[in-house]
Parts: sequence; structure tokens; C-alpha cells
Amino acid sequence: NGFVEFTDVEKSYDGRTFAVTRLNLSVARGEFLTLLGPSGSGKTTTLNMLAGFERPTRGVITLEGRSVDRLPPYERNIGMVFQNYALFPHMTVEENVAFPLSVRKIDKADITTRVGRALDMVRLKQFGDRRPTQLSGGQQQRVALARALVFEPSLVLMDEPLGALDKKLREHMQLEIKQLHTMLGVTIVYVTHDQSEALTMSDRVAVFNNGGIAQLGSPDDLYNTP
Ligand code: ADP
Ligand code: ADP
Repeated sequence: NGFVEFTDVEKSYDGRTFAVTRLNLSVARGEFLTLLGPSGSGKTTTLNMLAGFERPTRGVITLEGRSVDRLPPYERNIGMVFQNYALFPHMTVEENVAFPLSVRKIDKADITTRVGRALDMVRLKQFGDRRPTQLSGGQQQRVALARALVFEPSLVLMDEPLGALDKKLREHMQLEIKQLHTMLGVTIVYVTHDQSEALTMSDRVAVFNNGGIAQLGSPDDLYNTP
């Protein structure tokens, strides 16, 4: 069995049409899997069901053999990164990154150490006292990355994380995320509508169309298939 398993998963928001249909998908531990497809093809719905934000209408999703429930992602060791960063504006960078730790029973000294390490990883150690609004878009997204990684999750979900950045920074951040994936050995499920991004970053790509997976394979497989 895979680290993550979707078995015959369907999702309908209105009881008539399906945002996701007959989804069967297995994700291996440590894999970088990208959900690629046009707007409205069901990528975010799939990610949100795995995160526990949405409940499948039918079917089962398991993470390490256990059915996904609706606990907050960080309480299930899942890190999340969104396109709009979703940082807390009234908190400093350090407080933002500490947040997933501060809601658990972890002592202060340990939190400080881990936050420092996470900020180091995204090269933002010297910005710990700033507010998110005092940072560039790229820096804000690196804070969000640090916050998603600080509790050493086994699974990180990313929904168009680079969508708000310009092309040059986007390409730089693709490499940075790939390096973190390799270094940490974490499992990543990544959503994008950008084909070149999917092909550059992923171990495997699931091509979504009309709520289902139209193709699934490594970038080489997809590139060489007519
Ligand atoms: P993608 O991420 O590929 O753009 P989505 O999963 O967001 O696709 O959307 C798939 C379909 O489900 C679309 O038709 C969309 O309008 C619909 N949908 C998504 N979220 C909701 C929601 N919260 N309520 C109702 N319909 C939704
Ligand atoms: P931002 O302030 O938008 O986060 P930074 O100045 O922090 O952007 O740069 C983020 C990363 O992108 C840095 O590691 C930097 O080396 C790299 N970078 C910035 N500009 C360029 C460029 N023109 N070419 C290649 N890499 C760049």
C-alpha cells in the first residue's frame, strides 16, 4: 500500500455534478507528485480532501493506512503552502513560523531552536522580527514554506505556491523547493497548471482533466507519450 491512497474517490459539491470522479491514486513515501491540469479540473478539490478540508462524497483516502479525518493539517503532521501565503499579518516572521509548534505542547527553548533552523533553511534568519508586509512576495512565500516544514511533517501539500511570483523568481523557487524535498526526504503533493513547472520538479505527474486523472507518469513518460 502507498503512503497516501485514494480509492474510488468522488466529490460533488452540489449533489449533481462531480468536481472529482473515480479517483484512484497512490503516492509513495518521499515522492514528489504534481497534480497538473487546467482550471476547474479538480486539482484543488483533490488536495483539499487529502488535507481534510473537504470530505469525499464517496470513497476513501488514507494516509499511512489511516483514513483521513478532519483534524487541522498540522495536527496530522501535514504541512500546507498556498498561493496567497496565508501568513498571519499581525505576527512577526518568527511568530508565524512558530505557530504550528506553539499550538502543541513543545517547550519554549525547543521552539526557538526549531524556528531558527526552519528560517535558516529558507535563508531568512535575519528577518525574524519583521512583519509579513515588510517582505517581498518571494520572501513571504519562503516564510510560508518554513512554517509548513517547521514541525517536520511527513507530507507537505502545496497549492500553486509560486503562482503569485514573477517568472524569474518562480524558476528560482522551483529549484529551492526541489532542494528542500531532496534534503528532507519529505513527501510532496504539488498543484499547478504550469506544465514546465510540473515537468521540472516532479517524480511523477498526474494530469487532471474533467475531475479525473487523464495521464499519470514520470516527466519522461509523459514527454515521450504522443
Ligand atoms: P482546479 O483546482 O483544478 O482549478 P477545483 O477543484 O478548484 O479545480 O474545481 C473543480 C470543480 O469543482 C469546478 O467546477 C469548481 O467550480 C468546483 N468547485 C470547487 N470548489 C467548490 C466549492 N467550494 N463549492 C462548489 N463548487 C466548487
Ligand atoms: P525576494 O526578495 O523577492 O524574495 P530575493 O532577493 O530574496 O527575492 O531573492 C530570492 C533568491 O532569488 C535569492 O537566493 C537570489 O539569489 C535569487 N535571485 C534573485 N534575483 C536573481 C536573478 N536575477 N537571477 C538569479 N537568481 C536570482
